[in-house]
Amino acid sequence: MAADVIDGKSFASRIRESVACYVAELVSSIGVTPGLAVVLVGDDPASQVYVRSKGQQTVAAGMNSFEHRLPATTSQNELLGLIEQLNADASVHGILVQLPLPKGIDESAVINAISPAKDVDGFHISNAGMLSTGQKAMVPCTPLGCLMMLRQRYGDLSGLNAVVIGRSNIVGKPMAQLLLRESCTVTVAHSRTTNLQQLLSDADIVVAAVGKPLFVSGDWLKPGATVIDVGINRIESAEGGTRLVGDVDFDSASAKAGAITPVPGGVGPMTIACLLANTVTACYRAHSLPEPLELSV
Ligand code: NDP
Repeated sequence: MAADVIDGKSFASRIRESVACYVAELVSSIGVTPGLAVVLVGDDPASQVYVRSKGQQTVAAGMNSFEHRLPATTSQNELLGLIEQLNADASVHGILVQLPLPKGIDESAVINAISPAKDVDGFHISNAGMLSTGQKAMVPCTPLGCLMMLRQRYGDLSGLNAVVIGRSNIVGKPMAQLLLRESCTVTVAHSRTTNLQQLLSDADIVVAAVGKPLFVSGDWLKPGATVIDVGINRIESAEGGTRLVGDVDFDSASAKAGAITPVPGGVGPMTIACLLANTVTACYRAHSLPEPLELSV
């Protein structure tokens, strides 16, 4: 039987609708409009597209979007100065610095200069530490979106075997922490893992965040597994031009899995929706209000 295709596009659109309702509630109850500041340094074309899309979706949800576009020649001190200003600005509830930063700027120094309460990307070392010690953190957007989809599929995840492929700070590690918090039995695979196929053959949940097109074959999967494909890779298309594919070979995997996210239309749309959700959560927390449970995990 073909796997259920998890529709990230419509899930993300429901999250955005909820976000808009909570924004309206904040405006009417305390007169505060959540604000997201996005900082882009340099002129990387892909980053420009992401930033534009983030700004549009922020405004569409009724929030304030503050875009700061700085030249590639910006110094680290100038960037840190801007972050200091944004940290102090009460109308800004979330700050996102678009990565990658130009060479010569220390990304972790910049990320760790953001106030942890406004760190809606969840990359600050305090948020990483709080997540791993089971405290209330800002959760990185991509793993947050993946967990929301898994919770919708299973309800209770406890006792399930989960394999996360990839151990980056932005996807693999926080994903593994979240699954551990859900009481899954978690294995993290990486480039030195020698028995990946064996691990996957017993995995109820597979999260692939490798950055290698069509890397995971359906043959490797446990029948009925849920596959969350985080990868975004551009490859040459048989018809000419290029097309987007994930880290999982969708055709073979969907014949074996119970459920699978497509690329595009799976994890990708959830990531920006979760950024908006984190900004609203940050605003509720900033005003010491009980935060909307459906927007966080
Ligand atoms: P990184 O390059 O930072 O990490 C890739 C990970 O994959 C590393 O931990 C690496 O291991 C591991 N890996 C590489 N080769 C193998 C292998 N042969 N077997 C097992 N593991 C391997 O990537 P990111 O985590 O930043 O991103 C992963 C993918 O997700 C990319 O395609 C990216 O574009 C996409 N992405 C999508 C997002 C979305 O919104 N949908 C958001 C963020 C990322 P090691 O540590 O040993 O090198």
